[in-house]
Amino acid sequence: MTRRVIRDFPSAALPFQYRQQPRSGNEINGLGEPVFRRAEQVFHGSGARELEWRKLELFFALINPFRVYWLNMVNRWLLRRADGPVAKTRQPVADPRAMAEAIKQRARALGAGAVGVAPLTEKALYNGYQPDYPHAIVVLMPMDSQEMAFVTTNRAGVETMRAYMEITRTVVALAEHIRAMGWRARAYGEAADILHIPLAIDAGLGQLGKHGSLICTEFGSSMRIATVLTDLPLAHDQPVDIAVDDLCLGCRRCTLDCPVDAIADHKQMVRGEEKWYVDFDKCAPYFTHTVGCGICIEVCPWTIPGRGPSLAEKLLSKRVPDAV
Ligand code: SF4
Ligand code: SF4
Repeated sequence: MTRRVIRDFPSAALPFQYRQQPRSGNEINGLGEPVFRRAEQVFHGSGARELEWRKLELFFALINPFRVYWLNMVNRWLLRRADGPVAKTRQPVADPRAMAEAIKQRARALGAGAVGVAPLTEKALYNGYQPDYPHAIVVLMPMDSQEMAFVTTNRAGVETMRAYMEITRTVVALAEHIRAMGWRARAYGEAADILHIPLAIDAGLGQLGKHGSLICTEFGSSMRIATVLTDLPLAHDQPVDIAVDDLCLGCRRCTLDCPVDAIADHKQMVRGEEKWYVDFDKCAPYFTHTVGCGICIEVCPWTIPGRGPSLAEKLLSKRVPDAV
């Protein structure tokens, strides 16, 4: 299949074209800004606010195949229980470390592929949004690699939405479990009212890849992320080093395979942090056009099933020790 490189946003080469171009998503995201500020939502919100790129999002909803639309409706329906009443009797917590372990076990029993705990930080909050919780329980849900091999067809889009639905079910049930213990908890699924990736990194679940997605050893980037925010006392996990940069600095697989040239070969300054960043104005229209794209995730070596642990081990073993 020949893929055309599209350099403007949203491109006339795609079936959607703004009459009046929205403000650049890269500008809204703070590309090139040297000072930290909170992120602004651009696209894929929860519906609570009107976003700058909302028309593209509406178009996205209209072109979804029925199965994706249906799974999305189920997902939204599940999220009606994201928050709710808290039991009057509070279960005391003497050991936050033991409680964190118990909550992780519960999350895995509810279907989580991986789970970690992090503090809720400013990096994970959008401007104007102030959830009042100290802790984040971050959950990963793998996607089926055989189905995701069909990117960029509807078949992969259906699998993506199925994983969203499963992870929503998991975090909603986990939040309900915590509320039944007498502590506040709110589930955040697909609806993007918080930034899940910085929380997942702080929770020790993986590192950011050149393609702008989380990479973890278990699933590469072929998974979805969701979060429960809570005041249940929990010990935090620590960020991990699985040598993602060691590979990304030399690898160009996602850069070359991205059909719209959205992935840069170098890290960039974004709201005060030097990091991997995907060109939003190039990616979002193609992502919409293909109902979820995902090429960069699928071609990444970390996403090969079962490859992550040995890849991390090998990369870490090849590091040259610092000269004394
Ligand atoms: S494809 Fe290569 S460069 Fe891109 S995220 Fe994966 S390892 Fe990094
Ligand atoms: S999702 Fe598709 S368009 Fe976006 S960066 Fe990845 S490969 Fe490129």
